[in-house]
Amino acid sequence: MRAAKESCVATKRTRRTKTKRDTAQRPRAARKPALRAHRLAPDVRPGEVDVRVEVDPQSSSAFRGEVVHRLQLDRRRRSIELHADDLVLSGALVECGGRKLPGRIVRHPERETVEIRLAESLPPGAATLRLAFRGKLRGDLRGLYAASAGERRYAFTQLEAPDARRFFPCFDEPALKARFKISVTTASGNTVLSNNPVEKIEPLGRGRKTVHFRRTPPLSTYLLALAVGELVASEPVHCGDTEIRVWHVPGKERLTAFGLDAARETLARLEAYFDLPYPYEKLDLVAVPDFEAGAMENAGAVFFRETLLLVDPESATLSEKKRAAEVICHELAHMWYGDLVTMAWWDDLWLNEAFATWMAFHVVDAWKPEWKMWNDFQHHRAAALGLDALAETHPIYVKVRTPNEATQNFDLITYEKGASVVRMIERFLGAETFREGVRRYIRAHQEANAVAADLWSALAEASGQDVEPVVRAWIEQAGFPLLRLRRVERDGRSWLRFQQERFLSNPSARVNGALWPVPWVGRVAAGESTRTLRQLLTRRRGEIELPVRGPRFVYGNAEEGGFYRPLHDAGELAALAGALDALAPIERMGLIGHQWAAARAGHASVDGFLGLALAFTKERDPDVLVALRMPLELCARSAGRSLGAAAQAALRARVARAFEDAFAASGWEPAPRERDDDRLRRAALLALVGEVGEAPELIAEARARCEAFIADRRSLEPNLADAVVALAARGGDEALFERFLAASREAKTPQDQRRFLLGVGAFAEPALIARALELTLTDAVGTQDVALLLTRLVSNRAASEPAWAFWKRRWAKLRRRMPPMLVTRPIEALPALGTRAHRRDVAAFFRANPVATGARAVRQTLEQFDLNLAFDERVKGELGRWIGES
Ligand SMILES: [Zn+2]
Repeated sequence: MRAAKESCVATKRTRRTKTKRDTAQRPRAARKPALRAHRLAPDVRPGEVDVRVEVDPQSSSAFRGEVVHRLQLDRRRRSIELHADDLVLSGALVECGGRKLPGRIVRHPERETVEIRLAESLPPGAATLRLAFRGKLRGDLRGLYAASAGERRYAFTQLEAPDARRFFPCFDEPALKARFKISVTTASGNTVLSNNPVEKIEPLGRGRKTVHFRRTPPLSTYLLALAVGELVASEPVHCGDTEIRVWHVPGKERLTAFGLDAARETLARLEAYFDLPYPYEKLDLVAVPDFEAGAMENAGAVFFRETLLLVDPESATLSEKKRAAEVICHELAHMWYGDLVTMAWWDDLWLNEAFATWMAFHVVDAWKPEWKMWNDFQHHRAAALGLDALAETHPIYVKVRTPNEATQNFDLITYEKGASVVRMIERFLGAETFREGVRRYIRAHQEANAVAADLWSALAEASGQDVEPVVRAWIEQAGFPLLRLRRVERDGRSWLRFQQERFLSNPSARVNGALWPVPWVGRVAAGESTRTLRQLLTRRRGEIELPVRGPRFVYGNAEEGGFYRPLHDAGELAALAGALDALAPIERMGLIGHQWAAARAGHASVDGFLGLALAFTKERDPDVLVALRMPLELCARSAGRSLGAAAQAALRARVARAFEDAFAASGWEPAPRERDDDRLRRAALLALVGEVGEAPELIAEARARCEAFIADRRSLEPNLADAVVALAARGGDEALFERFLAASREAKTPQDQRRFLLGVGAFAEPALIARALELTLTDAVGTQDVALLLTRLVSNRAASEPAWAFWKRRWAKLRRRMPPMLVTRPIEALPALGTRAHRRDVAAFFRANPVATGARAVRQTLEQFDLNLAFDERVKGELGRWIGES
């Protein structure tokens, strides 16, 4: 799965503190009841499963079906327990050795299971369990759910993590793989898609049919897929023998070429990487009109949000294209890593997700080197470093007892930190050795399950090195190290003295004794050129001899390949600031992030950070400019909270002054045959000068450009669209609000639809904020977008207060419109509220209204509030002086 992404400044997690009050929240959320009961008995194993479903999304919200499980019993039993939730079951019958035994159905709602109890016991060996079931198409984008596109009605599945049990009664654990034969009865006009190709279509008369699919290879239940409704397919493209199609609701035919191209190009590279052909019979990519995640790796039938699959290459921004390609490749990597070889239990979810995330950047980078995908990854990694510096973080590997715990782990730590660690290990072992280990691992466990130790041993075999102790420290310990670096000259030679400790954002937090084996790579300037230096640092402190005497500078995390923060002393920092051009762009991005984090955590001064940030006014690389935006925005907000509106305005004006010449030189209009980098740089500068700097003339110009853009999409360089829409909304009136709504309704692409819909969350006029809030409770906003629009509103400085009041007032209704994974997004944005009183209010609210899948997000949010408040207090003198002097 790849999460839906909403990148607002305030939703990016930064640093936080832990106080005593947090523990008041903790017991309720984290108390562990006796949960072993959530695991099924290991001695009942499904082999083949036949599922027959009757579903008519156009005429009925009900569905019904029958399931036949052919089981292998390892020991004598009088009952069989399997998962089922929100389903009505009947007709339980067990066949065994020629006998037919009716079963009594006993429900265990707290375990989301049913038990089939029999009058006599079954001997070990084969048995068949037959059950009828019925249920209602759900409204929360989980299980088998209802979705619509205009007047058309659909049913889709989304079964990860544990939602197959809400579709049909099954053995809903990843290790209980079975071979599924699915048939669906529905109206003749409906398209029906599932994991495998259709075997036959059986006409039933009266406008009905049954579609029988071929039996699947062994699959975990969470990977099953069903789509029913009016869907249209593209012409197929081929990758070797594999037919690839994009499916979508009617009317989007012209948007399929990009997705097909990305799928074919990345699938070929994945086959080469794994040295194993694509493992399923066909590949359908399905654009689902209402979908919680970004995408889901159902074997042979991958489901996507429309924004991540249906792309118009002419009008899409480059970041929309890169994101779509990355997500498509991520899902295809799962066909091997996740689907063919599956984690044995949800505690190893990272095995799936960290690897697929890393693989997607690796493969798309090979396909399109000009996209510089690792610079994109650096933004994700920066967010993961921020989250992982909290006391309330978690290790990549976590014990999982309940479905809700599994759902909470689809986060930055599992994906982005996990991928960073995979990347660090790959660089440590060497790309070819690492690939050889991965190939061994996949071959050894195909069509079965694996645990982390299986991967360590495959990597150890391939490399001849004991990889496990290095990797386990990174996977099993929460947090990451701060590496303090200081150069010393001795005996006519140069040394780098290092010392590591856990990095925590809270300056007053006690640092524990954690120690990481750091596969360290540094960049050392020798004369005009630079070279890299590698060493595995296994001790808390020590010295590394440098290969050149008195180098111009040493940078402590070459290519940002390591998941740690280097902290250079003042002298080194000055040397680096004077040699920015000698660093790679990704290292300049890293330096900004590390210095900002150091300032937040009390290891460095804020004015020092601001001085460094404003030294980038001549920066050519767009990603470096993007990396400046969030820290500068957070500085401005801090100044507003601790020093008042005038100080905030002065800081913003200073940012605008620093970058306005660079924006003016770029101009609004692209030059003929302009490079992508120059287009992206213009967009990054517009965000700095307009959104952070709030330059009035730019905001006025953005309004005019936005009006023109709505009238004619070709009037604006596409990469400017997000910033222009956001800026225009800030000063926008009711007429513009109406135009946004109309533009969203009439949009020709999913990206445009989303841009204008979420854009209504950026208005500052109180009446329009109220209207945007009310929209979240109407069908004008699809279930998939409610949490994202609410996140925009909470993050919007003008709207956060009314959004929180609305949240409290309409919680019962809002809660129903925010699926379990998405509900964490607006929770994470709540620190934008800012004050101590808000912090108390938020804590009290979630004590009274706990959110099962959001418990960790609430704890992190409270920690973030505390960190912001402590930061405001600590740096207000420094910040005030800097604003006065600059
Ligand atoms: Zn995934």
